[in-house]
Amino acid sequence: MSVKNRIASLDDIFSPGGVLEKQLPNYEFRPSQLNMAKAVLDAMEGERHLCVEAGTGTGKTLAYLIPALRSRKRVIVSTATRNLQEQLFFKDIPFIKKYLFPQLAVTYMKGRNNYLCLKKYYEHNPQDVIFGGAVEEWKHLSGWVRATETGDRAELRWMRDDDPLWRHLDARGETCVGQKCQHFDECFITKMRQRALESDLIVVNHALLFSNLALQTDEVGKTLPEFAVLILDEAHEVEDVACAHFGHQISSFQIEDLCRDLQPILKQLPEYLGRVIDLEKRAEEFFNAFPAEEGHFSLNFFRRNGGQVDLRLELAALYTPLFKTIQVLHSQLQRENQKTAEVDSVVRRLGQLRQDLQEVFSETNPDHVYWFEKRGRGVVLHLSPIDVAPILKDVLFQKIESVILTSATLTTGGNFDYIRSRLGVPSPVEMTVPSEFDFSTQAILYVPHSFPEPRSPEYFLRALRDIRAILDVTEGHAFLLFTSYQQMNRVYRSLEDNPRYPLFKQGEMPKNELLEVFRSTPHAVLCATASFWQGVDVQGDALRAVIIDKLPFQVPSEPVVAARLNRLEQGGDNSFLNYSVPEAIISLKQGLGRLIRSRKDRGILAIFDSRLRTRSYGRLFLESLPNCPLTDNIVTLRNFFQSSGSV
Ligand code: SF4
Repeated sequence: MSVKNRIASLDDIFSPGGVLEKQLPNYEFRPSQLNMAKAVLDAMEGERHLCVEAGTGTGKTLAYLIPALRSRKRVIVSTATRNLQEQLFFKDIPFIKKYLFPQLAVTYMKGRNNYLCLKKYYEHNPQDVIFGGAVEEWKHLSGWVRATETGDRAELRWMRDDDPLWRHLDARGETCVGQKCQHFDECFITKMRQRALESDLIVVNHALLFSNLALQTDEVGKTLPEFAVLILDEAHEVEDVACAHFGHQISSFQIEDLCRDLQPILKQLPEYLGRVIDLEKRAEEFFNAFPAEEGHFSLNFFRRNGGQVDLRLELAALYTPLFKTIQVLHSQLQRENQKTAEVDSVVRRLGQLRQDLQEVFSETNPDHVYWFEKRGRGVVLHLSPIDVAPILKDVLFQKIESVILTSATLTTGGNFDYIRSRLGVPSPVEMTVPSEFDFSTQAILYVPHSFPEPRSPEYFLRALRDIRAILDVTEGHAFLLFTSYQQMNRVYRSLEDNPRYPLFKQGEMPKNELLEVFRSTPHAVLCATASFWQGVDVQGDALRAVIIDKLPFQVPSEPVVAARLNRLEQGGDNSFLNYSVPEAIISLKQGLGRLIRSRKDRGILAIFDSRLRTRSYGRLFLESLPNCPLTDNIVTLRNFFQSSGSV
């Protein structure tokens, strides 16, 4: 490791007169930040796990990065959102490198599908992968391939997130032939892995981290080196990301891609081409037989006509021939004597597909939930673990010396019981670092005493009336955050009919662009859903109100949620109080956390859900939210703003 412990103490860095005060223009000493840094250092030195809730404004990234780098161990920092990754890599880490650890070696790693596969690029005939006469695109791409050092598609500013061209060129693990590739040495993934091996600090996202942890034995897909310390920022997201990666997924698109890739590879073995056509046909028949309605549904407890059926049994007549076709093709190709690297790679894919299909369709493990997702013409079959805690204990908490879990929202009702039990963190040190902001003067919470029930017909009209009233108080400058697309679209259309302020809606443009437009448009109002509830930072006067349509309970009929609730009930726990409420509290705290991002910010937090006042569990929510005045009166909101001179 190249980091030298050349600094005296955390006090020297964080305290008044220290390095941070001297070098950071707007730095203010925050005792809570220093305390967090000391707790992180203690946990690492003592090889303990630590859960630390760091309220907004704590400066938590420096509070974990600086002690982590003193540890002289390889550290991985994992975040849920790209915004935070970029803040770490482009802002915090260069600062630390410049003033504290000049020898620091850092690698920023994204998922493999963010990077170009040179083999695909050189072997693809452009005519096969460019659409709609996008010849210019290919020319730009070729210029970039010659110049890029990272192969990271983020450098291609002109390429849309969903550009179909990229799907044919990305370096995803399942199509990589590993060391047999003739481009292996100059491959961007090989180089990234090499950089990571020589690094003290690696910045990743949760998806990459958990896909690697789930791939312990697959050397082709694996990109992360061994590490001793893991910092999980935005740790409240870990359960869902881990759940997605410790299960299996099989999609109709994946089989289409496989058949498309098989055709050129098997040109040398034409006797197999008939089987590939057969596979395509069987897969089409199988996936077309799934119910047409879009959404997420249970596979083995599929609701129909008031009852439940096991769709796997109903679809067995189509599943069996599909499975057999895959099985035969896999076995025959496996026995081929002169396999090329490409044939090896499709044998691996077919073997994985066969195993995943069998697990999803032929087994019933009480620890798994079997479900499917129907979107457009695509179907995705899922097998997900109901409880990730025992898995995380095995692959993470018992293997890694010290795991630091942090977020602005880890506690519910003032303790860590919920997150600790959901993630299976064994005996962590726990610490709550209060927000540096004074919510009692900077924010006001609006919760009406009486409000129609969210499902009643009167709800929408009343919500619209209150939204308009609050927007008049703040003169726009608001986020309207909804728990469903349907509700978001309905409110957006109504506001659009009589627009008093510039109105934007999620989906109109990429998220970061939309945020930029929101920040730079005076009086803007943005309608959005869950993806804007976190990782979004709008400082200053652009955001004066966050309005939330109702308590963000997860939908109990979602297969994974239903299975988790059921598991708790079977164990004698109250699933509503032990899962639904704490999960919604964390989401709500995230949503409200968008509002106050600096000491100068002032704003209204409005929640149109009188269950906060009328139901016994409402108290749990209110006790978990920042301590700010509560009102149900729009005039009080107006006075709050007039007294501050904000409007
Ligand atoms: S090693 Fe894998 S990812 Fe890299 S160029 Fe070759 S096939 Fe593509």
